[in-house]
Amino acid sequence: MGAMEDCCVTECTRCPALVDSRSRIVNGVGPEDADLLFVGEGPGANEDEHGEPFVGRSGSVLDDTLRTAGLDRSDVRITNCVRCRPPENRDPKTDELANCRRYLERELATVDPEVIVTLGKVPSEHLLERSVAVTKEAGDLEEVRIDGVPRRLLISVHPAATLYDRSQAEPFENAVQRAAELAGVADSEGGQSRLDGF
Ligand code: URA
Repeated sequence: MGAMEDCCVTECTRCPALVDSRSRIVNGVGPEDADLLFVGEGPGANEDEHGEPFVGRSGSVLDDTLRTAGLDRSDVRITNCVRCRPPENRDPKTDELANCRRYLERELATVDPEVIVTLGKVPSEHLLERSVAVTKEAGDLEEVRIDGVPRRLLISVHPAATLYDRSQAEPFENAVQRAAELAGVADSEGGQSRLDGF
């Protein structure tokens, strides 16, 4: 099995409600040897339509913030806890997260990133297997075993949180910047380019 097959799910009917609500399976995007991997919750309407994670408003926030850290979207891997859009954008249920976990674990094993960034409560709690107070813990780095492998995981607020609450923009930018530095992919000019917009 090649890397592509390791990261991509082409067929799955494990979650009846998601099979009904999805129009396609949304796999992760980005290099299969990326140093930095972002995990969101699950596809929304835009992602379901385009077949790519984080292409709606949250995606614009993520793209802009990556750029501020000197990174391009194509430099990083972006994926989700579940690959099918839940109905009415509800959170994925425990059994749905469990059904999709093997795909995420396979993707993590293939990409083997230096740092995993969990975007929001759902992926943070799913991968840390505990409750997480995201606004309090954003920017914290933890070591966690995923499928038996020790991984470095950095907790972040979800990019959409910055749209509802502007005070979340700074913690989000700081988390992405810290993750880029820890993964060794930060632009050495990062500090400078952060000032360029002023
Ligand atoms: N929100 C997510 O958590 N994932 C996406 O892919 C898009 C929005």
